[in-house]
Amino acid sequence: MGILDENRHLEDLDKKYIWHPFTQMKEWLEEKTIIISESRDCFIKDIYGRWYLDGVSSLWVNIHGHRKKEIDDAIKNQLDDIAHSTLLGLSNIPAIKLAERLIKLVNSSLDTPRPRSASPAIGSMAGAKRGRRHSSLNKVFYSDNGSTAVEIALKMAFQYWKHKGINERHKFLSLNNAYHGDTIGAVSVGGIDIFHKAFGPLLFKTYKAPSPYCYRCAFDKSYPDCKFVCLNRMEKILKSHSKKIVAVIIEPIVQAAGGMITSPSGYLKGVRELCTKYNVLMIADEVATGFSRTGKLFACEHEDVVPDIMCLSKGITGGYMPLAVTLTTDEIYNAFLGEFKDLKTFFHGHSYTGNPLACAAALACLDLFEKEDTLKNLQPKIEILEKWLKEVLNLKHIGDVRNKGLMAGIELVRDKKTKEPYDWAEKIGWRVAYHARDNGVFIRPLGNVIVIMPPLSISEQNLNQLLKIIKDSIVTVTEG
Ligand SMILES: *Cc1c(COP(=O)(O)O)cnc(C)c1O
Repeated sequence: MGILDENRHLEDLDKKYIWHPFTQMKEWLEEKTIIISESRDCFIKDIYGRWYLDGVSSLWVNIHGHRKKEIDDAIKNQLDDIAHSTLLGLSNIPAIKLAERLIKLVNSSLDTPRPRSASPAIGSMAGAKRGRRHSSLNKVFYSDNGSTAVEIALKMAFQYWKHKGINERHKFLSLNNAYHGDTIGAVSVGGIDIFHKAFGPLLFKTYKAPSPYCYRCAFDKSYPDCKFVCLNRMEKILKSHSKKIVAVIIEPIVQAAGGMITSPSGYLKGVRELCTKYNVLMIADEVATGFSRTGKLFACEHEDVVPDIMCLSKGITGGYMPLAVTLTTDEIYNAFLGEFKDLKTFFHGHSYTGNPLACAAALACLDLFEKEDTLKNLQPKIEILEKWLKEVLNLKHIGDVRNKGLMAGIELVRDKKTKEPYDWAEKIGWRVAYHARDNGVFIRPLGNVIVIMPPLSISEQNLNQLLKIIKDSIVTVTEG
């Protein structure tokens, strides 16, 4: 078979055998398939040799670029020892090392009042804030994707109250426009109708607080004159029902899949204060925001917030291997301690929990943050992005631009004055993405919101190129 025939054969096989996620397969079957075969830095290459700028970090996971030597080597080296063992009844070296590293890192970043070790995990990242009250996050529960990290958080929080002898707490408070993953528990605390409605009868009921979506404020107010009506609404729910509520679950600072909705300054801190005031747990889902995506190592840092449970995944291995962690406090962990016969055990685990290859990749990824001063080098790129966002806000069909760090959304609207959205069926976001693709940029929209989320390691030159092509694509599709 010639190379062209072979490529076409691969396309046929894809269409014959693969059911793609979040994809209308009828359309997929009619469209040209892009098959990726290679990558380097912030570029990915298809089987025909065309290179694309990876504008979504291979679905929000890539941090230091593709084919990063240090991470490649870490995985190869680990492979010489062992690829996988289990954490059920055994432990392994990379999982132990990574757990220690993460705990030190999270606590120095969030500046919890933990006795400092002589050598903080990443010295330059340690915050200098003082006077924190909240407990540190001292325990790591491993899993392999963001959804399971959230499931674990929900089950852990629920069972915690039971172990404390409190049995009436079985509800969660979550937000409209929230996205916490696609497993049933995670969908139950989700708030995106288009994804979640179909499964309604399967889901457990939650209390829903309004989304801090200022551009389309549910109360028709504007910040800061609104005095946080959305938080007041959350407080109302807590005031009436806190005795039934296990936890508030939130994506700190950015509701990502909901459309890159950035919360106004002070909102997250307000949520933490409400959780403390009404004595419910706070679960921070940092699956999308963690590992410097928002310009700080963790999004909670922006408002000096320490949650009771924190979920991390996407960026944890730099986009190399599936891995997730659910971090929690001694208080919660200790509640599960007891005699074997007491059945206080946390009965949860996955086959690939604490996979050594993934943990080795994560350790190398953390080393790179230090070695390359990723956070500091990010700042000029955030400035470039923010300057550009301000400019494109003048375009005829851009209603709103939002970002935190290198995580941005551009909301396209049919009518800027009335904020009338494009119909979902018009696929305006996709049309922009296809145009960009034809010009060498891979992006993936969220409905009418264009997402910009390149690897943090992207060069300023490549970032400018990415932004230029996205702008051209928006102009051509919406004004052309
Ligand atoms: C992507 C995401 C998840 C789900 O992670 P998966 O690895 O896709 O299961 C959960 N929470 C947030 C905030 C996410 O962005």
